[in-house]
Amino acid sequence: MLNPIETSVINRVDELADEMIEFLQRLVRIPTINPPGANYADCAALIGEKLKEFDYEVRFVEAEGLPECSREFPRVNVIGRMEGRSARPTLHFNGHLDVVPPGKGWTVDPFAAVIRDGKIYGRGVTDQKAGIAASIFAIEAIRRAGAKLNGSVEQSATVDEESGGFAGVAYLAQQGYVSRNSVDYVVITEPLDFDRICLGHRGVYWFEVVMRGRIAHGSMPFLGASAIDGMARLVERVERELKPKLNGRRTRMPVEPEAARSATINVNSILGGQPVDTPQTPCVADLCRAIFDRRFLLEEKFEEVRGEMIELIEALRAEDGDLSYELKDLMIVHPVMTAPEAELVQTMSQAIIASIGRHPPLIASPGTYDQKHFARLAEIEQCVAYGPGILNLAHQPDEYCEIEHLVLSCKAMAIAAMRLLGQGA
Ligand SMILES: [Zn+2]
Repeated sequence: MLNPIETSVINRVDELADEMIEFLQRLVRIPTINPPGANYADCAALIGEKLKEFDYEVRFVEAEGLPECSREFPRVNVIGRMEGRSARPTLHFNGHLDVVPPGKGWTVDPFAAVIRDGKIYGRGVTDQKAGIAASIFAIEAIRRAGAKLNGSVEQSATVDEESGGFAGVAYLAQQGYVSRNSVDYVVITEPLDFDRICLGHRGVYWFEVVMRGRIAHGSMPFLGASAIDGMARLVERVERELKPKLNGRRTRMPVEPEAARSATINVNSILGGQPVDTPQTPCVADLCRAIFDRRFLLEEKFEEVRGEMIELIEALRAEDGDLSYELKDLMIVHPVMTAPEAELVQTMSQAIIASIGRHPPLIASPGTYDQKHFARLAEIEQCVAYGPGILNLAHQPDEYCEIEHLVLSCKAMAIAAMRLLGQGA
């Protein structure tokens, strides 16, 4: 049920819809493609300008000192704060402004933001510029309805989520721009569908295995030790021994799709011996490298995840003394999940029920997003992902967002903000 002020805010969202759509189109028309991280400063400036217009105090934070923050491709984040009657509680909305390259297969210009049949098309519409527009206009609808929030609101648009978020949310957290000392609730506006709430994500462990053998003439391979053969044996063991074990481990996290409720492993790449496109000489490969992508569960300890892999390699080493193995950690992301009974989750659920009329399933994501940084670096306990857009369209050709979903999620965000922060006339 909505109270009269909430109802008037919902009506404001409808009135503001055209303005929100136009703003979203302008965001999409800036091709913030990552890699390499193009046009971030322009996009941050556009968002900053809108936030100033809507009465926020705005700061631009460039990730100075990080190698990816170059003169050609500066990593510029923007963060706005609107003070309520009191500093706390503070609700922080975050969206990433980078988009993945358009790729092939588009039937429309990926950066024209064309509207057709109630849908806005473009790279990054769903993932996740629609989310940025929705949260900014949700708070604006409250302001234009003349309601005053008791708590405060922050909005950040950050870079590089698609490549790990180190110059984005991680940087803001490390520099103290977002922290549990100032923020109580975080809503990341990633596209998890407008009627679902995402509580967290599985963990990630990327590692490289470097296998060294002994070179010999290819006509007498028995005189050498092939690193490629060794890697093949490792991959075979992963397939035969590790995968069934991982498949049997199930998490209590509500990961969607359900098949991703098990631990998984994938070989990202293998490179061994001579480059394929060069003239060949008969040699036994003395080097082979492979990169693995292991996704782990809340119930698995990272040390055990890594230890299990080392054990597998040690077993191979014991069988074949001619080969040497090295394991290098490339990326470690721990699983995170906000408790379903947390106030943020409960209030967000009630807001979706009241404004959209649906009971939102609580889900978790198979892949990671910036929640890890809010949880681990900023140490903020209450964080969810909620935003418009259809998850399965992310990174696809002809990516689009339904205008109806944009408007509905904007309403749910507005109601949630009023209930979390409290408001009066
Ligand atoms: Zn995203």
